[in-house]
Amino acid sequence: MSAGLMRVAAEDIPVENPSTGALAGSVSNMNETEVERLVAVARAAQPAWQAIGFKGRARHLRSMQRWFVDNIDRVATTIHEENGKSLDEAAIEAVYGAIASAFWARKAHSYLADQKVRSRSILVFGRSMFIRYAPVGVVGVIGPWNNPLLNNFGDVIPALAAGNTVILKPSEVTPLTTLLMVEMAKEIGLPSGVFQAATGDGATGAALVESVDAVMFTGSTRTGRKVAARCGERLIPCSLELGGKDPAIVLADADLDRAAAMIVFGSMHNSGQTCTSIERAYVEAPVFDEFVAKVTDLYRSLRLGESTALGSSDCGSLTFPPQLETITGHVSDAVSRGATILTGGHVQPGVGRFFQPTILVDVTPDMACLREETFGPTLPIVKVADAEEAIRLSNASPYGLQASVYTKNKRVAERIARSLEAGTVTINDSLANYFALELPMGGWKDSGLGTRHGADGIRKFTKRQSVMRTRFPMKKELHGMPFEAKNSRLLRRIVEIAYGHPRTS
Ligand code: NAD
Repeated sequence: MSAGLMRVAAEDIPVENPSTGALAGSVSNMNETEVERLVAVARAAQPAWQAIGFKGRARHLRSMQRWFVDNIDRVATTIHEENGKSLDEAAIEAVYGAIASAFWARKAHSYLADQKVRSRSILVFGRSMFIRYAPVGVVGVIGPWNNPLLNNFGDVIPALAAGNTVILKPSEVTPLTTLLMVEMAKEIGLPSGVFQAATGDGATGAALVESVDAVMFTGSTRTGRKVAARCGERLIPCSLELGGKDPAIVLADADLDRAAAMIVFGSMHNSGQTCTSIERAYVEAPVFDEFVAKVTDLYRSLRLGESTALGSSDCGSLTFPPQLETITGHVSDAVSRGATILTGGHVQPGVGRFFQPTILVDVTPDMACLREETFGPTLPIVKVADAEEAIRLSNASPYGLQASVYTKNKRVAERIARSLEAGTVTINDSLANYFALELPMGGWKDSGLGTRHGADGIRKFTKRQSVMRTRFPMKKELHGMPFEAKNSRLLRRIVEIAYGHPRTS
């Protein structure tokens, strides 16, 4: 049966192809009982998965890595059909799958190896110590619709590598890629129950939070707060990757061609539906006009529309229907308060949900387009007197996910980076940091808690255990019972020598 003629059961969730409006598929909306059943299966599968060790798990991750390479087109087509991004952007998600599988296969062991600890405390003389990292058990990963693989299965990989079993709850808007990941798990022979999918809406996500041992959440700040509150009540760890309003700062000495190219890519990738999308640019006055002209020309050259083959479109459709209202609202609010549209500004007429690449100038801080997350193909550009004003305006936001700085002066760039309230800062670059898995990525302020990638990107899926061993077991310690005055005086003398003021007489 063709996708357009597919029937959806009343209790199922239909999935729409946003470029064509056709039905792309449907998934079941799992209830609490079904989620509990998945968790029970995951719990039963976990000890054996932990027992095969890092080498055993790395073998599975290597199979996963090869599967991604062999199935780039299959993955890209699935992502494209439910999310609407171009096939080129969708393929990059599959490439991330291969890179991440290889990375965690190689690095999980070293990030989670026992760590020797030394102490200079005089009260623990003669002890050896180490920290070990034990898997938490069953991890629940809850993901958004903008990157159906990258911010969904992408976070499953390190949780699995750490020895946990995982249940992924994808967005109800784009669940088909996650179902493809379930097929992938079968095809590569991942042991049954190690990875499962819980399809459904917010209530399914909330049910998952009720029964897993740790939560990795990516999505809006509003939902993230609810998830964190419930994890707090349950006293289970959660890691939150939330919204952003990323600024770009362009100084007068910048290579303007490079800055324009990076800012166009950073603001228009996935039609602006990227958490680390550049959502506002602050440009020093002497180069403002030239920079705006360059970016506007590039925006005008972008091909908007359904991607039918690699290289056929630069900007895909808007995935989530309410986004159309948000983006239109931000543009009309700006215009009603005096902003000027240099290009775009409207919904593209015709089939599908497309919004024209839009440049706004004459924008002021009171406008929604500079205050709230737009998550669309718009870029408001602000003229600033100097770097200090750009830093001040960049930091005047509740969000702090990512920022970028464009200048030829390395020292100035690093000074600005250190002044910015953002979890990641790129210099003369945008977005590329996500593919450096050694580099942690996470938000400050309302943009999240915790990080993905790097050592913390896997340690967060573990429980730390500290182990101390006495190397010289004496019958009685200096500070031991029954207490003796001479031992306490000797201890006090040692403390004075080790920590006290030097004697003058
Ligand atoms: P959302 O918060 O609406 O939904 C995210 C997920 O949470 C979905 O799977 C949803 O079903 C689930 N959910 C909803 N209510 C829930 C509840 N009460 N308990 C548990 N789960 C629940 O977000 P969205 O609209 O899908 O995604 C867009 C947002 O995600 C944007 O704000 C974007 O910036 C952010 N995002 C952040 C990152 C990052 O790495 N920081 C990456 C991608 C997207």
